[in-house]
Amino acid sequence: MVANIGGNALVLGGSIAGLLAARVLSDRYATVTIVERDHLPTAAEQRRGVPHGQHVHGMLPGGLAVIERLMPGFTAEVTAGGGLTGDILANVRWYLNGKPLRRTTTGLIALSASRPLLEGTIRDRVRALPNIKILDGYDVTGLITSDEGDRITGATVAGRDDGASRAVPADLVVDATGRGSRTPRWLAELGYEQPSADRVAIGLAYTSCLVAVPDEIFGDDLIIVTPRFPGQRRSSVMQRLEGGRVLITLAGVLGERPPVTHDELPGYAETLATPDTYDVLRAAKPLGEPVTYRFPAYIRHRYDQLGRFPAGLLVAGDATCAFNPVYGQGMSVAAMNAAALGDELSHGGEPDPYRYFQSVAQVLETPWRLAVGADLALPGVTGPALSESPLTPDYLRRLQLAGTEDADLAAVLLRVTGLVDPPRTLLRPDIVERVERRQVATKV
Ligand SMILES: Cc1cc2nc3c(=O)[nH]c(=O)nc-3n(C[C@H](O)[C@H](O)[C@H](O)COP(=O)(O)OP(=O)(O)OC[C@H]3O[C@@H](n4cnc5c(N)ncnc54)[C@H](O)[C@@H]3O)c2cc1C
Repeated sequence: MVANIGGNALVLGGSIAGLLAARVLSDRYATVTIVERDHLPTAAEQRRGVPHGQHVHGMLPGGLAVIERLMPGFTAEVTAGGGLTGDILANVRWYLNGKPLRRTTTGLIALSASRPLLEGTIRDRVRALPNIKILDGYDVTGLITSDEGDRITGATVAGRDDGASRAVPADLVVDATGRGSRTPRWLAELGYEQPSADRVAIGLAYTSCLVAVPDEIFGDDLIIVTPRFPGQRRSSVMQRLEGGRVLITLAGVLGERPPVTHDELPGYAETLATPDTYDVLRAAKPLGEPVTYRFPAYIRHRYDQLGRFPAGLLVAGDATCAFNPVYGQGMSVAAMNAAALGDELSHGGEPDPYRYFQSVAQVLETPWRLAVGADLALPGVTGPALSESPLTPDYLRRLQLAGTEDADLAAVLLRVTGLVDPPRTLLRPDIVERVERRQVATKV
């Protein structure tokens, strides 16, 4: 049994990374205060501080398993709220390289729900913890330091409604304010080195719309994924949500922008490798106007490489690394990040930022390699080169193609991209041999 650390932990940002970090901190600190600039809704509603909540949010099975460990019964609560569950291969249509993956039951859960429902369910669980305090409607404006400047001792906040400033003292501050995190700037102001940033310029654009479609279009499927593949810049994901709605996200990279009106969306969808998105859009009844999101680049801040860092401060979630959203990794990585924080706290005593950031770097390693490796294979995308790996884009593509004929291979692939199994699984001799065997038949 590890002793409690006691005192107050302060979490900046009350979205998924902040809430999950708070859940873990509540085991060890006497109180945990979450500061959030939005007035947080009591129901599962879209809110201003999370504009991405209007776009498709896929939950990877690896991330779901971690959330379930942190909050037993989470999946059941999401389904009680109207979310849908199925199998990630038996109930999801995956069109990799324009061809459907062969179906089988994997035993891995696909959870399909709106981002507001997922976040709202996590928020309700965190709110119910006795030592959690939520300070919503407050903007974090800065960090408070010790006189020597080597320790963070809290944060300053300003009320959104009245602008009044106040100090919130804390024994530990966790920055989970997302992609706009100001920690790099604050570090510089305090005389610390800023973390270097690995930046992948992808030029991603999303248009999403909520629609109603006849049930038979999806059949038993929950999600239909049409990713871009070599030579393509367009993609789509469609997911069934609570309330009988369907959310469609059309995407483009490197300056390719999906249109923004209902009338134009089918024309874009018609150019995708498979007709499913076009068919759904043609049958769809709009439930609101399309919304857009631009994501010029994704960034990983290398806190793990810093030699000097103040005590009493950690960074979590998108504030550390915001992924290309098309791979659906962000929420899962936020959960794994929270689990790494829990491990750090279990050492006893106050967390060691150096050890914590090394653990987070380990969490990031696989999703970062999967995303960056796939994106850098697209001419025009720029970013930091990855170290050599036998898992080349060419092998991965051959594996994907083999998965269109061999359901076991498809399942093995989805276990890795779903962050359940490590990538080295894909290089097991029996897997390599099966991929080679399928190669002739699937050559394109
Ligand atoms: C378009 C898009 C699509 C995505 N799709 C997926 C997907 O399919 N699957 C997936 O797993 N992930 C997806 N993600 C990523 C996912 O949303 C995030 O990784 C996840 O929400 C964790 O983010 P976070 O909590 O670190 O930050 P955010 O969700 O960005 O939250 C930051 C929070 O901090 C608050 N805040 C910010 N600044 C301040 C301040 N100064 N004071 C007080 N509060 C502040 C904000 O209001 C917000 O609540 C997507 C992201 C985008 C942009």
